[in-house]
Amino acid sequence: MARYTGPVCRLCRREGMKLFLKGDRCMSPKCAIERRNTRPGQHGAARARKLSGRGTQLREKQKVRRTYGLLERQFRRFYDKSLHMPGKTGDNLIQMLETRLDNVVYRLGFADSRAQARQLVNHGHFQVNGRKTDIASYIVKAGDEVAVRQRSRTLEYFKTRALMLDAKGVPSWLRLDPGALAGHVIAAPARQDLELPFDEALVVEYYQR
Ligand code: SF4
Repeated sequence: MARYTGPVCRLCRREGMKLFLKGDRCMSPKCAIERRNTRPGQHGAARARKLSGRGTQLREKQKVRRTYGLLERQFRRFYDKSLHMPGKTGDNLIQMLETRLDNVVYRLGFADSRAQARQLVNHGHFQVNGRKTDIASYIVKAGDEVAVRQRSRTLEYFKTRALMLDAKGVPSWLRLDPGALAGHVIAAPARQDLELPFDEALVVEYYQR
């Protein structure tokens, strides 16, 4: 699946906030937002112009899209699907993004970032309900079990990871069993469980124009 391969911290600088795309580095003084919180580019340090309504909607959409590491076409596909689901489009969109397999792997603590989680999933290290699943965009449901595959458990990465897993650090819609290197989806994610505060209504408004 296509993905963004350019400089990652530049995306945070463009949005003017931490999007937590690089794992531990995001918490350290090396974070680009801590060191130089200006927009990227030659005139990035110049005073930012006031955003129009459309500009605000665009920035919010970019923030959400970049946080989940999707290209525009992939993100638009999620939006189109959420539009045809019952309920509020914005809620559906956020719920679908949160329940992507790569995001669940990240939120359970098996990876430091969504990008790393996506790579682990693509490389076939995870199973859903006992079946190998290597599609990062796979949507999990309440009741599903996401676990590290048996043959991957002997890898040094997962042995080290097992010692770092912390059941208290997972959102309330997930339950982690560190000993079993597995997690369960116990409910649909709620808005307050998001890692970053998004205004999904602005994203919907952006696409509705
Ligand atoms: Fe964003 Fe993390 Fe880079 Fe900081 S270190 S700018 S939070 S990706």
